[in-house]
Amino acid sequence: MKAENVMSVRATLDALRQGDITSYDLTKACLQRLEALNGCLHAFLTPTPELALRQADEADRKYAAWRQDPSIELPPLLGLPMAIKDVLAQSGVRCTCGSKILENFIPPYTATSVERLLRAGVVTVGKTNTDEFAMGSSTENSAYGPTHNPWNLECVPGGSSGGSAAAVAARIVPAALGTDTGGSVRQPAAFCGVTGLKTTYGRVSRYGLVAYGSSLDTVGVLAQSAEDAALILPHIAGRDPRDATSMDLPVPSVRLDQASVQGLRVGVPKEYFIDGIQPEVEQGVRAAIEAYRQMGAQIVEISLPNTAYALPVYYLIAPAEASANLARYDGIRFGPREEGERMWEMFFNTRGKRFGAEVKRRIMLGTYALSAGYYDAYYGQAQKVRTLIKHDFESAFNEVDVIAAPVAPTTAFRIGQHSGSPLEMYLEDIFTLPANLAGVPGIAFPVGFDSQGLPVSMQLMGPHFREDALLRAAHAYQQATDWHLQIPEGLDRKDNQ
Ligand code: GLN
Repeated sequence: MKAENVMSVRATLDALRQGDITSYDLTKACLQRLEALNGCLHAFLTPTPELALRQADEADRKYAAWRQDPSIELPPLLGLPMAIKDVLAQSGVRCTCGSKILENFIPPYTATSVERLLRAGVVTVGKTNTDEFAMGSSTENSAYGPTHNPWNLECVPGGSSGGSAAAVAARIVPAALGTDTGGSVRQPAAFCGVTGLKTTYGRVSRYGLVAYGSSLDTVGVLAQSAEDAALILPHIAGRDPRDATSMDLPVPSVRLDQASVQGLRVGVPKEYFIDGIQPEVEQGVRAAIEAYRQMGAQIVEISLPNTAYALPVYYLIAPAEASANLARYDGIRFGPREEGERMWEMFFNTRGKRFGAEVKRRIMLGTYALSAGYYDAYYGQAQKVRTLIKHDFESAFNEVDVIAAPVAPTTAFRIGQHSGSPLEMYLEDIFTLPANLAGVPGIAFPVGFDSQGLPVSMQLMGPHFREDALLRAAHAYQQATDWHLQIPEGLDRKDNQ
């Protein structure tokens, strides 16, 4: 199947309803494309073809019944194939989190976000590659090997939801779930030229999302466009009694038909246009901001003065939470065990052999930041500065409706480019971390290409629970431009080989 045959979410659902295509045929085509491309992309860790075809069959039966009796209510996403990041549990399907410590772990329960998609009729084609426990910005920290960027196979797809982003960019599936703790939906979306929606903390239940940084973790959507992300969002969002931080707020179904940005106040924070940013990224983002101005938006220069502290604050808080969350992987409760003479040796062997270098680094950083005598100086201090960063956003949103900024300082970098230096890798996150620390939503989408032919993207950030404003603003841009419709060339030659 050719890339252009994999339609948008909107077109897929229309075609299914009209009976132009069956979910079975569509799913089969997605699975064939997955199989043809996974060798070079390595976007999927665990394809689930039998399960997907069973779900598709079931969807087709429901469509047939509905054709007999149109009063039957159809699930809203019936028959739509999607991919799921491998940190979200799906009952009966291997969930590795990109780690050898969960090799062959089969969860007996399903994440609420996935459960809701299944109830909405989605067909799940498989689990996508991720940095180990979502710790990374390139998918190179996956214990099962990196994912490759569909635009250039020598480049990273970003991370940690790199598998989901690559799967959507390569048009294997119309949409996928990812997670964003410090940029992991937005940055891979940016590197792969797709649209990535990071939801407000508390918008989507974290139940069944394997915890990394519990006060930062969010579930989000990767899709071809803001319109498609808007179609998925209402079906994963909402209160869930199994996650006390999920909010009991109505989930607006986002109406995009008259998405105008006339009068929209777009803030441009000066702290996001700094030395060291790749000139083509800055130019691309500035050109997109200019496009907003021409569409009637009002551009306002703003300041988020504590932006520079987001990186050190995040790299204390996230590892601190991770060190506690990952204590449960001890060889007893989950996954495989490495034997030892005594119990503590078994712990030591299991964790020593089965966690990767980056995960161990974070556990050590976090344990140190939380330890007696250092807690106040590191973790305590970081929490205080986090509050200041949150206040920066609150005051900015008194003046503007959305904030426009680059997603990352560069376009996709080469596999191995930062592998010698954790700090260089962490610096890739400077523009995405603040939204997570403040808990606000963000959306990344392509606004051009660099001279290497790699996507350049920008992000819009909005006030808490204003995903609708972001989706509308991104949709307005996508109505006026066609960057989001570009498809990586050359993959189909691989497909045909
Ligand atoms: N790159 C960041 C990290 O390594 C963010 C990852 C994420 O959002 N899961 O922690």
